[in-house]
Amino acid sequence: MIAIDTVLVKVASRCNINCRYCYIYNMGDTRWATMPKRISHATITALAKALGDLSRAQQRRFAVVFHGGEPLLLGPKKLGVLLAALRRALPSDYPFSLQTNGMLITQEILDLCSEYRTSLGVSIDGPPDVNDRYRIDHEGKGTHKKVLEGIEKLQNHRDSDFLYTGLLAVIDPESDPCEVYNFFKTLNAPSLDLLYRDGNHSRLPYSKASFQSTENGRWLAQFLDIYLADKKPLKVRLLDDMIKLVLGGCGTKEGIGANDFGIIVIDTDGSVTKNDTLKSTFNGADRFTRRWSVFTNDLTEVANSSEFLAYHTLQRPTASACLSCPELSICGGGMLVNRWRDDSGYHNPSVYCADQLFLIGHIRNRVADLLVSHEV
Ligand code: SF4
Repeated sequence: MIAIDTVLVKVASRCNINCRYCYIYNMGDTRWATMPKRISHATITALAKALGDLSRAQQRRFAVVFHGGEPLLLGPKKLGVLLAALRRALPSDYPFSLQTNGMLITQEILDLCSEYRTSLGVSIDGPPDVNDRYRIDHEGKGTHKKVLEGIEKLQNHRDSDFLYTGLLAVIDPESDPCEVYNFFKTLNAPSLDLLYRDGNHSRLPYSKASFQSTENGRWLAQFLDIYLADKKPLKVRLLDDMIKLVLGGCGTKEGIGANDFGIIVIDTDGSVTKNDTLKSTFNGADRFTRRWSVFTNDLTEVANSSEFLAYHTLQRPTASACLSCPELSICGGGMLVNRWRDDSGYHNPSVYCADQLFLIGHIRNRVADLLVSHEV
C-alpha cells in the first residue's frame, strides 16, 4: 500500500476572488461548477470515518490540509463542525492546516483554528502592485488591502506563534525580486514558499515566453542572491530545499528532488481525486477512472489500487531528457502538471526545465563561492 502523508480536503468548491492564473477556474476545467459549493454535514461524517479508518490501517501519521476554492467560505459554524469531527477521528498529533487567500479571516475563525490546532498559510504574491495584477476579486479589483487586514489579525492573535505558519506566493517574473523580498520581510512570516505558475507545454504559463526561456529561473536566482545577502533572512522553503539538495540532502517539497509523496484529495462531494492542479491540463484530468468516495470506499482500498499506484509513480519523470539529466536528483523533473503536452501527455520534461537548469546552476555557483570563502 502507498503510505499516505497528506490528505487534502476541498471544503468549498467556489472562491470569493478570481485570480487570473487560477488553475481551478481559469484554465479550462469546468467540473467545479457541478460540485457542491460547500462540504455537507453528511460528507464531513463520512470523511471523519474514512480518515479514522485510514489512520488505524496505515499506523502512520498524515497531515490534513483544508483547501478550496476558498476554504473559509465554509463559514465558522460548519468549519467548527468539520474540525471537531476530524479531531475526534484522528490522533491529536496529526497536523491540520488551512490554505487561505486571507480575505475572510476573522477573530472567530482564528479562535476556532486555535481550539482545534489548525494552522493557517496565506496566499499573497507580494506588494500591492505585484499582487493586484493577478489576484483580483470578481469585480476585477485588487485584493491586497483585504489580505493584509487578514494577515494582521493572524499576527495579532494570542496563539499566532502556532497559527501563522507562513505565506505562499506565485512567482511573477516581471516583478522586482528585491521589492518582493523586502515586502515579505515586513510581514514577519515564519516562512515563505514560492510557486511556479501552473501551465504546460500546450498552454504556457502566464509570463513564460517559450520552453527555452529562463525568466522564472533568473528571477529566482536574483531572489536567492538577496536572500543569501540578508543577515536575518526569511525562511524560503523552495530555496532552502534546493540548497539542501545541491549539498546532497533531502527536499521536503513535491515537485523537486527524488522524494515521492502520497497525497489523496477529497472533493466537496466526498469523491477521491488526483492532485487538483492537474485540472489545468485537460477537463477531468484530476479524476480517477474508478469513482471512489468516502461514502462507499475505504481509503486503504484506494491506496492499494493499481490505478493509484500508476498515478503515484507518475511523480517520477519518464522523458528521456529527464532520465539522462545530470540535475535530475535536484530538479526531480518538476511538477507533473508542468510536464503535460496535448500530444504526448506527461512524457516530457517540465515546461520550467530551462528555468530549473538556470537556477540550479546558479545555486551550485553560489554554494561553491560560499564554501571557498568559508575555507579562506
Ligand atoms: S525537467 Fe529539465 S532540469 Fe528537470 S530533470 Fe528534466 S531535463 Fe533535468
